[in-house]
Amino acid sequence: MLNRRQTLQGLVAATGLAATAASAKDRCIAFTPEAQQAKTPAEALKRLQEGNARFVAGEALHCDLLEQVRSTAQQQAPFAAVLGCIDSRVPPELVFDQNIGDMFVARIAGNIASTDIIGSLEFATALAGAKLIVVLGHSECGAVKGAIDNARLGSLTGVLQQIRPALKALDYKGVPSSKDKALVQRVAERNAKDAAAHLTGRSPTMAGLVREGKLRIVYAMHDVATGKVSWFG
Ligand SMILES: [Zn+2]
Repeated sequence: MLNRRQTLQGLVAATGLAATAASAKDRCIAFTPEAQQAKTPAEALKRLQEGNARFVAGEALHCDLLEQVRSTAQQQAPFAAVLGCIDSRVPPELVFDQNIGDMFVARIAGNIASTDIIGSLEFATALAGAKLIVVLGHSECGAVKGAIDNARLGSLTGVLQQIRPALKALDYKGVPSSKDKALVQRVAERNAKDAAAHLTGRSPTMAGLVREGKLRIVYAMHDVATGKVSWFG
């Protein structure tokens, strides 16, 4: 027989579990335009920070993706956008524990803010209403290593040349090499910071949204060894 105290404890625990399940279920509801517009850039950032914390803790939501497909069939209203690298170890939806209809994701080697990427993010923000852009660099980035070594290969050469200014900005003494792990990390961080700056520097549209407080742009670094994202800016 349970005594009164044990029964109460059981009730409190069950209620807590139910509340956790309910909020997890809430977070699986696909964004509507109303929900998107009700989010501030700060809330959008918090949502991604919480998502990465769940991912790292092994507590991803595992939403019903087919239900989300059904509920986004007629419209999408993502609250955020990510500019990330093509690296197979850094899929933004998984890293931030987000799902269908939550985020626009633009991926390009070295997460550079090239003209076409900027155009895509102008769509994501000015036309489609996303409140936050995260430029997501990462450790052990092959594109950054290629840029440091001044690698050349077909059209990739032009991509890597857009990362080179991040190396030059560090004023590195000596012969830069991708074997220098600390240098690779520093260039990757600087490159993500530069890309975030380019989004407003090269886009009067996004600069205007930031000025009006409708958009926030930050950069972050993903650690491929842990899955953890560190935030900057
Ligand atoms: Zn990369």
